Amino acid sequence: MSDIIQLLPDHVANQIAAGEVVQRPASVVKELLENAIDAGSTNIKLLLKDAGKTLIQVIDNGKGMSATDARMCFERHATSKIQKAEDLFNLSTKGFRGEALASIAAIAHVELKTKQENEELGTSIKIEGSKIISQDFISTSKGTSIAVKNLFYNIPARRNFLKSDTVETRHIIDEFQRVALAHPTISFLMHHNNNEVYHLKSSNLRKRIVSVFGAKMNEKLVPINEQTDILSIEGFVAKPEFSKRKRGEQFFFVNNRFIKSSYLNHAVVNAFDGLLEQGSHPSYFLYLTVPANTIDINIHPTKTEIKFDNEKALYAMLRATVKHSLGQYNVAPLLDFNRDANLDTPYHLNTSTKSTKTPLISVDPDFNPFKNESHKEVHTPLKGLQHKESWESLYTSLASTDEEKQTELFENQQEVKAQKTFQIQRKYLLSSIKSGVVLINQSLAHQRILYEEFLESITVKEANSQQLLFPVRISFSSAEIEMIYTIKTELENAGFSFDDFTKDSVTIKGIPISVTESKITIILEELLSDIDLEVPNASFSHFDIMAKSFAKTLSIKTGTQLSEIEQEGLVNDLFSCKEPTTSPFGKPTFKTLTINEIDNLFNS
Ligand code: ADP
Ligand code: MG
Repeated sequence: MSDIIQLLPDHVANQIAAGEVVQRPASVVKELLENAIDAGSTNIKLLLKDAGKTLIQVIDNGKGMSATDARMCFERHATSKIQKAEDLFNLSTKGFRGEALASIAAIAHVELKTKQENEELGTSIKIEGSKIISQDFISTSKGTSIAVKNLFYNIPARRNFLKSDTVETRHIIDEFQRVALAHPTISFLMHHNNNEVYHLKSSNLRKRIVSVFGAKMNEKLVPINEQTDILSIEGFVAKPEFSKRKRGEQFFFVNNRFIKSSYLNHAVVNAFDGLLEQGSHPSYFLYLTVPANTIDINIHPTKTEIKFDNEKALYAMLRATVKHSLGQYNVAPLLDFNRDANLDTPYHLNTSTKSTKTPLISVDPDFNPFKNESHKEVHTPLKGLQHKESWESLYTSLASTDEEKQTELFENQQEVKAQKTFQIQRKYLLSSIKSGVVLINQSLAHQRILYEEFLESITVKEANSQQLLFPVRISFSSAEIEMIYTIKTELENAGFSFDDFTKDSVTIKGIPISVTESKITIILEELLSDIDLEVPNASFSHFDIMAKSFAKTLSIKTGTQLSEIEQEGLVNDLFSCKEPTTSPFGKPTFKTLTINEIDNLFNS
């Protein structure tokens, strides 16, 4: 038989390589921005059309390329950044594989313009699907401009695979933020469809973080600083009370490169030890500098994961440093200082009221260790600051009081006639029904009620809005403002009214009737992160996401004590819902136990 193995032609090999390097417009943005940084630029512009699907252009003022290099840069494995294998373990540049431009040129229409400082003329090259279309001398300013048009024009399957513009833009913004945060002294500009999204001036770390995430970030930051022989750590963590329910603002940079590391994340979370509310994630911006020869960057196609020589030592140092800083900035001591006196009340004091004739469930409405969590605005310093142990021990002792109360309730049933529902462990409601009993999860039930209410007011009814006496101005990052602006109409349907959009803030004049003023920021922040995480499909509807998000944020939580009236209201409202059986997220809201089932419990 004849031989069948052949070498692939370059343009095919490039297209295959592109499959690894270029997943979506955001990947191109990352590669181009990194090249601009490697070229020593101090000023970098990113221009986009249609979420990068039509155009991604990066213009820098870096060192530029000679005419020969301009041609060479599109060859595969063509790089100026390393020469020998050992260089891989001593990298000071973002790039080193010499693959990005070759890959991008294989799957798009690319126009390069570049000029070196001392040259009279620069070079312009057009290349499409790895084929050079033209090369000319041009007069242009120092630096490089690369325009990538019609990405995936020759791979329809990949192009169709791209998500909506909102989602692709979100990915681009993520990459842009990572690069911008890694290089605070470089100024960056980002335009999307001719609108300015970011204009970041050369500055320091703190200012850069604030200009990327909005003015409200400033008060949240606790500085971190530690220098040792094997590691220096700089940056900020956000105070625990500003931790998020979604992982969002978590950034590690190692030698100025954004990386993902669940191991190091664990070290940071661990340092917050007891300061975080369950299920919430701290925000952080941590810049680690280690000797270049102690890490391996070449283990991942997009270089976002790296291997450390002494991971364990880094873990320990990172954890200790963050812990120390949290303590130093008086975040930890605040715990005792601000502690709710109710938390320290031994429970027997509260049960001394046992003998009163007051309906038992409401004897101690103030005795609620969760109160700060569930009733107060999320931004109070107390949120999430309770010691976990004392929390839990309190909860156990509460459990027993509740049981005592229950027993007593049954004993006093005649006296407490109106009592139809019981609250169990501040989590469930028990109510007797014709066929037996029903057990309701208070938080999930309330989510269902609020969800249907919001959905109705957003889509059907004239929204119930309350005008604020004093409109509040809230700052957001410019990306968040863009997003709020896109869903403005839906938000107005829900009862919000806005005024005076600027690049990083908006004035709120009115809010939905069921929202309190102190919750405005949190519900908008949660909504934005929910929209962000949503993978849109054909039935993608902001209405639904919005109603779900509001319901989740505003629902009464486990741990909230409910008065009798509240309990009954909740039960009645739940059963007047269209779909009372499940929460908007598909969890069961209640379970019933029929008399038969109860009988069976005792007949086995
Ligand atoms: P790598 O960055 O891994 O070297 P690339 O394909 O991204 O590979 O780029 C190839 C080469 O083109 C780089 O090594 C660099 O010499 C040159 N180059 C790319 N972008 C720029 C730029 N913006 N300014 C100057 N030179 C550049
Ligand atoms: Mg590169």
